[in-house]
Amino acid sequence: MKFVIIGGGPAGVEAATHAARMGAEVVLIERDIVGGAANLWDCIPSKAMISTGAVLALTKRAEKMGLMPITAQIDLDSLKSRVSSITGRLAASKMALLKSQGVTIINGVGRMVSPTRIQVEAEDGIREIESDAVLLSTGSRPRIPDWAVVDGQRILSTRDAYPPPVIPEHLIVVGSGVTGVEFVHMFRSFGSKVSLIVSRQQVLPAKDPEVAAALEADFLESGVKLYKGARAIGLKQDVDGVSIECDDQRVISGSHVLFAIGSIPNSDSLGLDAAGVYVDRSGHIPVDHHCVTNLRNIYAAGDISGKLPLASVASMQGRKVAEHALGLDSRTHRHLDYEKAASAIFTEPEIADVGLAEAEAFALGRKIRVTKVPFAANARALIDGDSRGFVKIVSDPATGVVLGGSIVGHNAAELISVIALAVTAHLKVNDIVESVMVHPALAEALADAAE
Ligand SMILES: Cc1cc2nc3c(=O)[nH]c(=O)nc-3n(C[C@H](O)[C@H](O)[C@H](O)COP(=O)(O)OP(=O)(O)OC[C@H]3O[C@@H](n4cnc5c(N)ncnc54)[C@H](O)[C@@H]3O)c2cc1C
Repeated sequence: MKFVIIGGGPAGVEAATHAARMGAEVVLIERDIVGGAANLWDCIPSKAMISTGAVLALTKRAEKMGLMPITAQIDLDSLKSRVSSITGRLAASKMALLKSQGVTIINGVGRMVSPTRIQVEAEDGIREIESDAVLLSTGSRPRIPDWAVVDGQRILSTRDAYPPPVIPEHLIVVGSGVTGVEFVHMFRSFGSKVSLIVSRQQVLPAKDPEVAAALEADFLESGVKLYKGARAIGLKQDVDGVSIECDDQRVISGSHVLFAIGSIPNSDSLGLDAAGVYVDRSGHIPVDHHCVTNLRNIYAAGDISGKLPLASVASMQGRKVAEHALGLDSRTHRHLDYEKAASAIFTEPEIADVGLAEAEAFALGRKIRVTKVPFAANARALIDGDSRGFVKIVSDPATGVVLGGSIVGHNAAELISVIALAVTAHLKVNDIVESVMVHPALAEALADAAE
């Protein structure tokens, strides 16, 4: 079976390695570097920079931890090399994995010319490949409002920030979703003054209000200015900086602006018309629960499929695509349940959640049991000098089955895995209570919350 994949991000790489492992002849076409935007521009560089900010924040707490005061400053050149060394190593390890599985990698731009033929434009010329099954996993790029032009100097997209030419004196972040708040946190930790334009009345509008409120409180305490209920509609630039005009007449001035208002799928030059693949008005390719498009042999996965735009979800979609394309027995092939995907926001405190949220259950009129424990009572949190936040577990009051949970606090992104496993495996709160956790550990708060 021949399987051609266009786009080597998390969806494409996982589909390629898994399909090759299962015996398919796999060709992966990538125009840039294997690993995708996830590795090069999004998940990895942003977390690498946030991690540097966290170390800087730790130095400021030195005295509270029983040390003499420590001073540290950002070194932009060494920060830049740190980011590219991490992304380079990850790309190399993905490349080695693909090669070890026998995947043929073509460095070029792919497009469909018919439902079974793919054209590749590479440095050495143009060629066409015939395939039994095709995966479109070309990802997305940052959305920029039509009234702004990104210059990479003062007007930035998320891709100009690793790091920007200077640490902004006053950064205006437009967009208060997951990406926006991570950049607020990152630059606040680097010492920038930060203003955040929040189009609704809550940052992270899709999240549990209690979780969003905890982050807002932390932002306000550290001096971040929140402009709520304001939609950015225009930009002015002069020699000293930029001003953002909002639809409620407010004008916010700063030294730099960064747009974090979502992304646009890379579907426009994929030859979808020629192949007869349906694309919706937003440019996403609708898929069924197997990631099959309107054509039986063509799949779409990752950001282009318009499902949850997360690298972790893209990888799992890629895995499921490989299994379906290779006709794996349906009893062993489980569908990907998007409702059970864990996600995290790498602010400090971190925020992570999975499954059913309290507010969502309330809106659905569903009976639930909610138990919540603050980290303030957790020994490890006190030892580490950061006891902000809480663990909240949502369960079924009749059966005790864990339905979801949210964590705000240090290392929430790691801790959520326990609740994610419980949700996926239909474990009960008692299963968590009766796990003997390490002491002293943040995870003990999970057992306390499950109690
Ligand atoms: C700032 C930021 C931070 C993020 N942080 C996280 C995070 O911490 N955790 C998380 O889970 N998600 C995170 N995300 C989301 C995550 O980056 C995306 O969901 C993920 O990259 C989607 O993976 P993908 O496989 O769809 O495609 P991508 O990673 O976008 O890769 C697509 C690949 O296709 C290639 N390509 C495109 N067109 C063609 C073509 N015609 N021919 C050949 N190749 C082509 C591109 O070069 C690219 O390499 C973040 C997003 C942003 C913007």
